[in-house]
Amino acid sequence: PNFTYPIKQRAIFFTENGGPEVLKYDYIDTPKIDDLKPNELIVKIKYIGVNLIETYFRKGIYKTSFPYVLGREASGQVVIKGEEVLDIDLNDYLVFFKNESFSQYVKLSVNQDKYINVGNACSDDSLKQYTASLLQGLTVLTFVNEAYNVKEGDYILNYAAAGGVGLIFNQVLKLKGAKVIATASTEEKLQLAKKNGADYTVLVNDPDFVSKVKSFTPDNRGCDAVYDSLGKDTFDKSLEIVKRKGTLISYGNATGTVEPLLINRLSAKNIKIARPQLFGYITEKEEFDHYSKELIKLIDEKKLCINIFKTYDLKEYPEATKLMEDRKTTGKLLLKAPE
Ligand code: NDP
Repeated sequence: PNFTYPIKQRAIFFTENGGPEVLKYDYIDTPKIDDLKPNELIVKIKYIGVNLIETYFRKGIYKTSFPYVLGREASGQVVIKGEEVLDIDLNDYLVFFKNESFSQYVKLSVNQDKYINVGNACSDDSLKQYTASLLQGLTVLTFVNEAYNVKEGDYILNYAAAGGVGLIFNQVLKLKGAKVIATASTEEKLQLAKKNGADYTVLVNDPDFVSKVKSFTPDNRGCDAVYDSLGKDTFDKSLEIVKRKGTLISYGNATGTVEPLLINRLSAKNIKIARPQLFGYITEKEEFDHYSKELIKLIDEKKLCINIFKTYDLKEYPEATKLMEDRKTTGKLLLKAPE
């Protein structure tokens, strides 16, 4: 009753590709409500997850139209709902995937969008943990089951092991009984990876990187699987590190897109290669529900703890991404939408 839906909202967007300087924090229209469908609802956003993928869109590695409002995931309270929305009450907190979530209000469709209802009594700490884990946690849970099925005793190489995805990988791989070899750019990051479950660590720019990683594995045979998010700069090294019959999962472009690959290069060691994206594993509602239930359970049981580097105000995203792109952050960065 005291709530007036605004026609304008603050958002982070860009109108041309480039560095962090092209980011704008300004007013855009809120989602229209006069044509709200019976199965749609409006969420007032509270927390927003930052992911490195935003930089791929901004730089033009992935093409977009302009203006482009950033954002993939967020959480917040339901403020308006259509009459066919039955399992969700006003004021319930939802944690969800939605493009353009670097803003204050989004429209969700209960049939089409992926969300978790965490109720109206969710504590602020829990809401932060759930928001901070949605995209990166589901990435790890799907990748350790489906991109390669990690087994107890496997030797696994985890790149950017102190980053958002990386710190979750350490913990989940450990829960699966794997031996985790973590790599990152500084000693401090390696220490953090160790605290989160890594068994062995090596600096990514170590001149003997390949042989050091292999030396942690039995008979120097190499890793059962390599999860490589750096892309271009490390791809060849990753191929060398995979053992005979092992799997290379290339899943990010932090250093640029991997060069085209001659498929014959895989036969020397009968290597399998995968280039997955999260959404291909959670397209169906059943798939999303399965993995998101597992994620919430791991967090509630404190088997998985999301390391939140800092919660920035939405308008501070340009500074936050600068730090991230200078490789000065660890764990997850969150944004808080303006009230
Ligand atoms: P992170 O928090 O891991 O930050 C990126 C990290 O990458 C940095 O901390 C840094 O770690 C490393 N890095 C190396 N070179 C660069 C560079 N030139 N610019 C920026 N970072 C660099 O980010 P996220 O957790 O959001 O993502 C991790 C990776 O996983 C990304 O590559 C992302 O694209 C990928 N990803 C892929 C998904 C998929 O579906 N395929 C889903 C989610 C994430 P260090 O200093 O230790 O090298």
